[in-house]
Amino acid sequence: MPAPAKTARSLDDLLAVGALPRAQAEDPALRAVAERYAIAVTPDVLASMRSRDPATDPVARQYIPTADEAVVAPEELSDPIGDHTFSPVKGVVHRYPDRVLLKTLHACPVYCRFCFRREQVGPGGEALDGVELTAALDYVRAHPEIWEVILTGGDPLMLAPRRLAEIVAALDAIEHVGVIRLHTRVPVADPSRVTPELVSALRAERAAVYVALHCNHANELTSDARIALRRLSDVGIPLLSQTVLLRGVNDDAATLEALFRALVQARVKPYYLHHPDLARGTGHFRLTIAEGQALMRALRGRVSGLCQPTYVLDIPGGHGKVPVGPCYVDLSQEGVAAVTDRTGGVHLYPPPAKESA
Ligand SMILES: *Cc1c(COP(=O)(O)O)cnc(C)c1O
Ligand code: SF4
Repeated sequence: MPAPAKTARSLDDLLAVGALPRAQAEDPALRAVAERYAIAVTPDVLASMRSRDPATDPVARQYIPTADEAVVAPEELSDPIGDHTFSPVKGVVHRYPDRVLLKTLHACPVYCRFCFRREQVGPGGEALDGVELTAALDYVRAHPEIWEVILTGGDPLMLAPRRLAEIVAALDAIEHVGVIRLHTRVPVADPSRVTPELVSALRAERAAVYVALHCNHANELTSDARIALRRLSDVGIPLLSQTVLLRGVNDDAATLEALFRALVQARVKPYYLHHPDLARGTGHFRLTIAEGQALMRALRGRVSGLCQPTYVLDIPGGHGKVPVGPCYVDLSQEGVAAVTDRTGGVHLYPPPAKESA
C-alpha cells in the first residue's frame, strides 16, 4: 500500500488507502455516521497503525469510523460535560473560578471516534472571528480571578503560527494570567506541524506555557512524534498528557504501562486518565469505573510514581472533574485508618495522641 500524501477525510478516502473494506463503505449506518461526524486520518496516524482494522488495532480503533457509532444509548448526551451551561461569552467556558477554556477553533488534525465534543468539532474554519476573540480576551481581562487559560477546541496547534503567537502574546500581557495551557493532539497526529515557527509562537515572557498532549496508546508515539515533543521540551515547555480510557484501545494494565512509560521517557508527565464521557454513539468504547479502578490498582503495583496519572471522571451535566481512582484507606473504624498496600495487606495508622489540656 503506497503511503498517502493527504489526510483521509471521507469514507471514500479511507477506502482508497485500504482503511475500510468495500462492503462496509456501502453500509447505510456507516454512511449516516460519516455524514454526522467529521472524519480525518492523517498519513502519520495511518502509518502508525499495525493493521487498518478498528476491530483489532488500537490506533485504527480511535480514528476509523464504524457503524457502532450509529447506536445511541439513552444516557448519552450531545453536550456530555455541560460546556454550554458555563459559557459566558462565545468560545469561553468558565466552570472553575481560577481557569477558563478558550476555544478558538473547531478543527483538529484527526477526529477521534470517541470525542466528547464530537457534536461541535469539525473542519470549517475558526470558531471565533476577530471580534469574538477580542470579546473572549476582554472577558479574561475583566476577571482577575482567572489565573489559567486553557486553549482547546478543536486543537490550538492547528492555528497558523502567526495567529497563535498573537493569542499567546495577548494572554501574556494580562497581568493575572499565570499559566497558558494548550491541549493538543498535533505532536502525535501531525508531527510535521511542530515547526520552529510554531514552537516560537508559544514563547511567553511572563506566563508559563504548558502543553498537554492527548495520547492513548504507545503506538502513537512514533519517532516523528517524539521528535516533535522534543522540540517543545527543549525550549523549556513542560509537557503533560491526557489519556482517555477506551475499551479495545488501552483497557489493560500492560498497555497502559507501556503508554505511560513511553510518555515519561518522552519527557511527558501523565496528568489525567479520563474515564470516557457520555458522548453520543460511543458506548462501544466505555467500560465501568470499577474496571478503571482495577487498572489503576494494577498500575500502582507495577510502575514508577512518575507514570501514575490521576484517574478522573468529568461528571455528566457540567459538575466538573473529580478523581475516581481506587481508595486505599478505610476510615470506618473510629480514629484508626486501615490502609491497604499494593499487594492487598491491610495496615493500621493510629490517630495523633490526644493533647493534654
Ligand atoms: C477540564 C476542564 C478544565 C481543566 O481542568 P484541570 O483539572 O485544571 O485540568 C477547566 N475548565 C473546564 C471547563 C474543563 O472542562
Ligand atoms: S483531538 Fe480532542 S477535540 Fe479533536 S476530535 Fe480528538 S478528542 Fe475531540
